[in-house]
Amino acid sequence: MADRNTIQKEIIYQTLCGLHCHPTAALVYDRVHQDHPTISRSTVYRVLSRMAEEGKILRLDLAGDDSRYDGEIRAHSHVRCRMCGAMADLPQPEVGPPEGDGGFLIEACAVMYRGLCPDCRREAEKLC
Ligand SMILES: [Zn+2]
Ligand SMILES: [Zn+2]
Repeated sequence: MADRNTIQKEIIYQTLCGLHCHPTAALVYDRVHQDHPTISRSTVYRVLSRMAEEGKILRLDLAGDDSRYDGEIRAHSHVRCRMCGAMADLPQPEVGPPEGDGGFLIEACAVMYRGLCPDCRREAEKLC
């Protein structure tokens, strides 16, 4: 019999995996709360944060924006809309090792493209 924490964790994980929009913790909480009103906001935030530390999910830290979460942990890159913030997965491009490390211990490489999502692109083209 799985304990309550394990069940809550699984619900939060499944909710994240069902959302392909790279949601913020706040959005994951909204969705979880719809079906499971007893799971608190702090539990959702804590579970997401812990799963990201454990490498079970990805946390995308964006400068000046709330962190977004991703249930897809296979290597992939992201594209982010500069208008509405929508994010999508893209295949991982071939990225070679850097020429130098600047004294840093390099641990990971994340590729983030920026541009306009299909909706914002349509809007922008209408204005022309
Ligand atoms: Zn957009
Ligand atoms: Zn992703």
